[in-house]
Amino acid sequence: MAHRIDHYTSIVGEDVLYEIYKNARLLCGKSIVHINSTYYGGGVVEILSALVPLLNDAGVETGWRHLRGSPEFFTITKKFHNALQGDPLHFTDMKKKIYVEANEDFSLYNHLDHNCVIIHDPQPLPLINFYKKQQPWVWRVHVDFSHPDKELWDYFRTYLLRFDAVIISHEAYRKEDLPVDQHIIHPAIDPLSPKNMELSEKIIDKTLKKYRVPTDKPFICQISRFDKWKDPEGVIDVFRIVKEKIDCRLVLCGSAATDDPESNMTYERVKKKASQDIKTGDILLLTLSDNILVNVLQRKAAVIMQKSLREGFGLTVTEGLWKGRPVVASNIGGIPLQIEDGENGFLIQPQETERFADTIIHILKDKRLTEKFAVTGPTTVKKKFLITRLCIDYLHLINDLLSKY
Ligand code: UDP
Repeated sequence: MAHRIDHYTSIVGEDVLYEIYKNARLLCGKSIVHINSTYYGGGVVEILSALVPLLNDAGVETGWRHLRGSPEFFTITKKFHNALQGDPLHFTDMKKKIYVEANEDFSLYNHLDHNCVIIHDPQPLPLINFYKKQQPWVWRVHVDFSHPDKELWDYFRTYLLRFDAVIISHEAYRKEDLPVDQHIIHPAIDPLSPKNMELSEKIIDKTLKKYRVPTDKPFICQISRFDKWKDPEGVIDVFRIVKEKIDCRLVLCGSAATDDPESNMTYERVKKKASQDIKTGDILLLTLSDNILVNVLQRKAAVIMQKSLREGFGLTVTEGLWKGRPVVASNIGGIPLQIEDGENGFLIQPQETERFADTIIHILKDKRLTEKFAVTGPTTVKKKFLITRLCIDYLHLINDLLSKY
């Protein structure tokens, strides 16, 4: 069920609601549209699923469209995604052709007569070349693209120069060689979504039974798409060190996003690496997509890990903090925007496998840390990373862009 703005009163207070209504009022009669390339899996979907209904409820007509693409298109855009995060890319005219053609096809089926168009990530970037531009266009990039493949970045810039604004998640992602206005807006979570809402013990127990997650030992958990940048194999290395000292389990939960053709390969590699531990029941691999399951795992995990090698922001970290669980995560990308080391979780360099393990052992042994994080984690999220704040940020930006157009 989609939520209305007034459902959030008890969490954020009336002043925040007033700020949303006040800024939405200025957009009365205007419409905006978000365009991304998947309706399923990953942080972008998570954010839009919450943001779009709330903006509509506030009175701003907001649509959400998906770019369709062939498997070939998604193979190429996944390579672009990797190259934006620093992988080398073999850039060919054929790749460009397939990339651009999927965008041209979309334009043949979709009229965009909205007052503002917001494009998410690289897949729908070329769309701007297939419309008569009559409104502000915004590119919202969700990944850490501080060190992109140069050839790809130069190519993307040819599209970006036509945009009115770019939204990034971190100051470190700002591009000096891009003259377009760049705004920092942090992502956010919806505290009332099935993934984050409060759950009764009865539902928690029922869900754990349904998915056969045993609770006789503490478990460590990482919730992430099976993606090399989330380093699921590194998580297994950490777990094996912890397991030598403390009897526990590891739960790796990851459903695939429809725009990620590499996830199967990563999943198979993880399954192979963990095969012995899967047999003994020490590692559970869950590939189901169930928001209540994610919610339950995050609430019941003794420690939540996010051992990413790149992370634009990391909503799984926000979700873990919101649930007041100890989060041990990589000190990279958007994660240090959320975790203050030792205060509301722990930050560790991704390559420091031993330190990851030692920190988890420390948490499992010292209950006082878990008690502390149960207070400091939710406080951080409430202050900075709830969907109502994201609504306000979008409304401010759109109002600003329309006032200049
Ligand atoms: N997620 C999920 N099921 C999974 C794996 C991930 O629902 O099996 C969700 C996760 O809870 C979070 C989002 O997908 O809301 C991932 O966002 P994040 O910013 O952490 O990473 P991304 O996938 O966008 O790189």
